[in-house]
Amino acid sequence: MPPTLSVVIPVYNEEATLPELRRRLGEVLEQIEPSHEVILVNDGSRDGTAEALGRICAPGSRWRGVHLSRNFGHQAAVAAGLRAAAGAAVVVMDADLQDPPELVAELLAKWREGYEVVYAQRVSRQREGWLKRTLAWGYYRVLRAVAPVDIPSDTGDFCLMDRKVVDALVALPERNAYLRGLRAWLGFRQTAVPFERKARFAGEPKYTFRKSLSLGINGIISFSKKPLRLATWLGLVVSAVSFLLGIYFIILRLTSEFEIRGWASTVVIILFLGGVQLLTIGIIGEYLSRIYDEVKQRPQYVVRGEDNAPEGGKAVRRSGGSVGGQA
Ligand code: UDP
Ligand code: MG
Repeated sequence: MPPTLSVVIPVYNEEATLPELRRRLGEVLEQIEPSHEVILVNDGSRDGTAEALGRICAPGSRWRGVHLSRNFGHQAAVAAGLRAAAGAAVVVMDADLQDPPELVAELLAKWREGYEVVYAQRVSRQREGWLKRTLAWGYYRVLRAVAPVDIPSDTGDFCLMDRKVVDALVALPERNAYLRGLRAWLGFRQTAVPFERKARFAGEPKYTFRKSLSLGINGIISFSKKPLRLATWLGLVVSAVSFLLGIYFIILRLTSEFEIRGWASTVVIILFLGGVQLLTIGIIGEYLSRIYDEVKQRPQYVVRGEDNAPEGGKAVRRSGGSVGGQA
């Protein structure tokens, strides 16, 4: 019989946090919902994570491990976990205990009230650098301004989703899946639970600045056509201004003793136009590269193996990412 609650946790080089996660989350889950399973997705870790997962996900326990063949990134690891989860409600959380396990009780309570998506919303971020906090704060506001979907601010992937929502989510054919956006896009009855984002239990953040930036750009590109519109407008404005300037110079030439000088202004204008052109090509390129990714139809991740797979069988397809994960 499928469990009531599945907890999906992407894990990348987290050997230092795993024992504590096992202890704290295990305690909480035994209390709030005995019928549960925990799916730890090893996203191609290079430290002792694989071995730690092997120990935690012992046969007969409620903890299961899915090992990806290499590091496919957090979003892909969550997707793999969602495909493996069987619960009537599925919680997604981080391995580093920044998402407090105790909050799962509140998420579950809201689900029992009838909500189909319960997302945790940060009211504060403890001990994350001011730069990261400011950038994150600004980013979510920009995202909300440009995306036609109502993506709530200050929410990460920490949430609970009903089985219906998970089924709909994993059936989406997108490879560049931006989960927190798709979750909002799907609709259903949604509500927020506020929480304080704790400091990492141990280890370094695995989301490097580059990975965060790429996730952020992905969010905007996959939910908004506004950057393309911006390119069009830039082109229009620049053409209009140069047209008017042209007329102005002709008039000046005819009506006065105007002598053409101004090497500097010419250079500046050429550089400016070059910049605008490169920027617009770049914007188009961002969309194009995503189209390219989608048409290649490569799976979002590849699974190497599993620990404590249900009934000795394989819960997860070897790879996933296309419609129904049949890739
Ligand atoms: N993670 C992952 N693959 C990656 C990077 C991160 O599975 O390529 C996992 C990581 O182990 C953690 C979660 O994603 O469980 C969030 O990562 P992190 O704590 O570094 O992100 P932050 O909390 O800084 O947003
Ligand atoms: Mg973290």
